[in-house]
Amino acid sequence: MSYKVGIVGAGFAGITLAQELAGASRIEVELIDRRNHHLFQPLLYQVAMAGLNPSDIAIPIRKLFAKVKNVQVLLGEVKDVNISKKQVCMDGQWRRYDKLVLACGAKHDYFGNSQWEPLAPGLKTIEQATEIRRRVLTAFEMAEKCEDDKEREAYLRFCVVGGGPTGVELAGAIREMATVTLKEDYKQADLSKTEVFLIEAGDRVLASFHPNSSKQAEKSLEELGVTVLKGEPARNLSVDGLEVGNQKIDARTTLWAAGVKPSSLVNCMQVSQHSSGRVKIEKDLSVPGHPDVFCLGDMAYLENDTGEGLPGMAPVALQQGKHLAKNLKADLEGRDRQPFHYFDKGQMATIGRSRAVAETAGRQFSGLPAWLAWVFIHVLYLLRFRNKMFVLMQWIWGYFSFGRGARLIVQKKWRFYGGEDIQYLGSENESNNEKQA
Ligand SMILES: Cc1cc2nc3c(=O)[nH]c(=O)nc-3n(C[C@H](O)[C@H](O)[C@H](O)COP(=O)(O)OP(=O)(O)OC[C@H]3O[C@@H](n4cnc5c(N)ncnc54)[C@H](O)[C@@H]3O)c2cc1C
Repeated sequence: MSYKVGIVGAGFAGITLAQELAGASRIEVELIDRRNHHLFQPLLYQVAMAGLNPSDIAIPIRKLFAKVKNVQVLLGEVKDVNISKKQVCMDGQWRRYDKLVLACGAKHDYFGNSQWEPLAPGLKTIEQATEIRRRVLTAFEMAEKCEDDKEREAYLRFCVVGGGPTGVELAGAIREMATVTLKEDYKQADLSKTEVFLIEAGDRVLASFHPNSSKQAEKSLEELGVTVLKGEPARNLSVDGLEVGNQKIDARTTLWAAGVKPSSLVNCMQVSQHSSGRVKIEKDLSVPGHPDVFCLGDMAYLENDTGEGLPGMAPVALQQGKHLAKNLKADLEGRDRQPFHYFDKGQMATIGRSRAVAETAGRQFSGLPAWLAWVFIHVLYLLRFRNKMFVLMQWIWGYFSFGRGARLIVQKKWRFYGGEDIQYLGSENESNNEKQA
């Protein structure tokens, strides 16, 4: 007996599964992704904040499997799935598998306000990261040549919506970039006056962390000069800013880090979904009623042994990819599948240079030790030696020089739809006084 395994999505879950199945006898793997690169999303904000280059955190998928005979990589977008037939429709072509694995991740959720997406890009892809970088750096350039004080202030005011790890990282990095890295580069605009608002609808930032970590993160943000607004959602986003409670914030740049929902592929499957939209899966990671169809990572919903839903985090996706490989091999050898148990190693978020919060084994720590742990873990989990070295070298250089080497405004305007599709709007839209639309 042999199996043809189809994996849709070469993110953390899909790539780990394919790597675990590499070289396995009697298993042929087809790994499909709509991008030609695997993206290390936890460092995406560093690309957005000009600390790293896109190629430092994006790895060509084909290169990873160049010498692996039983893994075929296909560049293509899956737009439909027939789970009863274990088929996917990639670029108009139906492909059938013995075992089908869906690991397409998540996209941004604008909570029913999709019109806000072009106004406030989220951070999920390289295109979005370079667009955010373009908007932030362009705002400083506009402030420099602006003659009107009020207008200049608006260019130097930034709103970040969502106080999760990504929002906290972005808010801290913008303030740090303005007041440390760039402060001497501009003659007209006083970048020390840069205001950053972090808007969190809940009652604390980093809600998934221990309250002590949230408090510590808020303290670090305030020390950096970020204004944290809690307890009210952002409303009425426009090119001129947004509203929070009864306050109107006149800001030219707004970034979105508020919510995620699973890939829209879940909508073309008749499956049971959690209220978050994620596909409910069995303990062996299969889709209920479809023992040969599996769903992993951010797309899937599974509870841990204490009944809590597993978080949308890289370690969950990695461990599920590894576990499924064992179960697929067990199927082939006629052994029983084993239930998945998540081993929670903890979580961490960085707020700026030498500032971070981390928690592991029920203990929380912060400051330089947490930041060093953050650096170590992220370098460790990056794929390929080349990327580990490049990232580490740039961080060491940045740490001692206070510099950010990737300060390039290279992109024109893009418009985002549904967190996934992007459309190039062309240079004719570059005017409009550079208001960030
Ligand atoms: C900015 C940011 C920061 C983060 N920071 C952290 C962190 O510090 N720590 C942490 O643990 N987690 C972090 N996460 C979350 C973590 O990255 C995700 O939980 C993890 O990537 C989920 O893995 P996945 O395999 O389910 O999906 P992903 O890694 O998102 O991969 C999905 C893949 O599917 C592909 N795909 C999607 N749709 C299709 C389609 N229709 N056809 C073909 N291919 C498709 C995509 O191109 C992508 O390659 C962060 C996420 C973001 C966005």
